[in-house]
Amino acid sequence: MKFSWKNLLLWSLPIIIISFFIWQVFFTPINNDNTSNNIANSRMTYGRFLEYIDMGWVKKVDIYDSGHTAIIEAIGPELGNRIQKIRVELPANAPELIIKLREKNVDINAHPTKNNTALWNLIGNLIFPLLLITGLTLFFRRSNNTAGGPGQAMSFGKSKASFQIETKTGIIFEDVAGIDEAKEEFEEIVTFLKRPEYFTAVGAKIPKGVLLIGPPGTGKTLLAKAIAGEANVPFFSISGSEFVEMFVGVGASRVRDLFKKAKENAPCIIFIDEIDAVGRQRGAGIGGGNDEREQTLNQLLTEMDGFEGNTGIIVIAATNRADILDSALLRPGRFDRQVNIDIPDFNGRLAILNVHTKNKKISPDISLSIIARRTPGFSGADLANLLNEAAIITARQKKNNITLNEVDKAIDRIIAGMEGTALIDSKSKRLIAYHEIGHAIVGTLLKDHENVQKVTLIPRGQARGLTWFTPSEDQSLISKSQIKARIMGALGGRAAEEIVFGESEITTGASNDLQQVTSMARQMVTRFGMSNIGPLSLENEDTNPFLGRGMGSSNEYSDEIAIKIDKQIQIIVYECHQKTVKIIKNNRVIIDKLVDLLIEKETIDGNEFRNIIKQYTDIPNKIY
Ligand code: ADP
Ligand code: MG
Ligand code: ZN
Repeated sequence: MKFSWKNLLLWSLPIIIISFFIWQVFFTPINNDNTSNNIANSRMTYGRFLEYIDMGWVKKVDIYDSGHTAIIEAIGPELGNRIQKIRVELPANAPELIIKLREKNVDINAHPTKNNTALWNLIGNLIFPLLLITGLTLFFRRSNNTAGGPGQAMSFGKSKASFQIETKTGIIFEDVAGIDEAKEEFEEIVTFLKRPEYFTAVGAKIPKGVLLIGPPGTGKTLLAKAIAGEANVPFFSISGSEFVEMFVGVGASRVRDLFKKAKENAPCIIFIDEIDAVGRQRGAGIGGGNDEREQTLNQLLTEMDGFEGNTGIIVIAATNRADILDSALLRPGRFDRQVNIDIPDFNGRLAILNVHTKNKKISPDISLSIIARRTPGFSGADLANLLNEAAIITARQKKNNITLNEVDKAIDRIIAGMEGTALIDSKSKRLIAYHEIGHAIVGTLLKDHENVQKVTLIPRGQARGLTWFTPSEDQSLISKSQIKARIMGALGGRAAEEIVFGESEITTGASNDLQQVTSMARQMVTRFGMSNIGPLSLENEDTNPFLGRGMGSSNEYSDEIAIKIDKQIQIIVYECHQKTVKIIKNNRVIIDKLVDLLIEKETIDGNEFRNIIKQYTDIPNKIY
């Protein structure tokens, strides 16, 4: 180890502490007057001592230890009528004692702690805290460096500010839209909190824990806050990731703190966000268990078992991965109620848009249902963000209210990233135009494909050009021919490049399309039973949550089947590609026209696009 003042100080600290104690024990100067220990073997309580004074049996009092101990000389029948020395511990504050003693004319003698090493004592008493302070400061500085955050070590085991308390969330059920079933479930809980006597009167136990399960941004936190707001109780919240700290034991002590504070403030809501961060199946994961997490989880289980049902504390936890939670958490008496919240459907989105347009200036001719129609897959948070983006764009353009135009821009931006500037006319711009028109025309002519919403050459995010399709509402049941149509649509870009520019001119621009194509084809074979292998489920979606995607997935099939799978994928993609090429070849005249128009206008709207195609051929086209 290299020498440094810091190290010297750090090492000297424990040595000094130890030597200080040794010194205290062995070398504390023996006070000559303080011979009380040797003389007074018998003891007496302070109360008895007062009685003795009253009886007039006390003759002399010697006070030691700056008023903490007294050696008394007393005589009485209990003492065999002999003068005896007795030791009495005095309370810290006993002013009445002196008065009493003087009344009874007892001889009082106070003995200051005399000692010959007073100087050393003084030095010792000064140096010790001084070194301690320096040592501690150093320790905290060092731990700050490694922990990365200020005051990490300071909060060790105490964790004062580790959870948030809102006495009034100010959020009511009206602020939460589109998740009516979940709300109904919670209206009951609000009644529990407001009028527990209704339930206790009939012997019903109030639920302790409710687990909210749903993808991010669907309003789990919002709903939990709304319960607190409706019931008018405080809201304690902490995130699971905040439990998991670098020091073992901190998480557990945070849980303890949290429940302690909550009990003091009952009735109240405890909200644990991202509970999967602590609540994972114990003993799972690579590299053994995580002690810290398990301790925290155990503490959480203990606390939840520790309060009786009717104390008025309701624990609400949120996660988007209920499948990986430790089953102990889901047992009765813990999170035995589970409420699923899904990405909102059309009506849900409409309701959420209604909530979030309340405080915004919206052009009167804007139709929220059009926005809702354009945004399948958007969560509540996405929609809130969308309207905010639209408001920002509106303000930037110094307009008075938000129109559909701004909303459209905001949607595009959220889905595909920031808008770039279009290329100047060049060969690569033409190639991109053919690529995009290729997607668009294949999509338009196929019966089972979604409609084109617009085609654009204005780059966004990673994409150099984009073809937007109007997503269909129901994404949950998709037929085989729909998947095939999507595969063909995705192949349309590359197919157009091939036919127009020739095999050797094809570009890397299709790599993302091809990824999608392969993944769709693979799922047709291995998950949906849509190939010649038959209706077999050969792979699961995202098998092991603790290993990354794909990694460690134990597939249930033989090598022989693996070869067949690959073969089937190839066949599907090959056939789709053939058909796509045919569509492009057969419609070359329209494609050339559309490309010219696209290069000129940079964006073609879906309706216009269809109108042009209609002049040449049927939509959807029966041939394909
Ligand atoms: P989660 O906790 O599920 O990730 P949040 O509750 O934090 O989602 O939602 C973030 C924000 O999104 C909310 O503050 C709210 O503005 C908006 N939001 C989400 N879901 C809804 C909803 N169902 N109704 C209204 N607003 C919502
Ligand atoms: Mg949340
Ligand atoms: Zn493409």
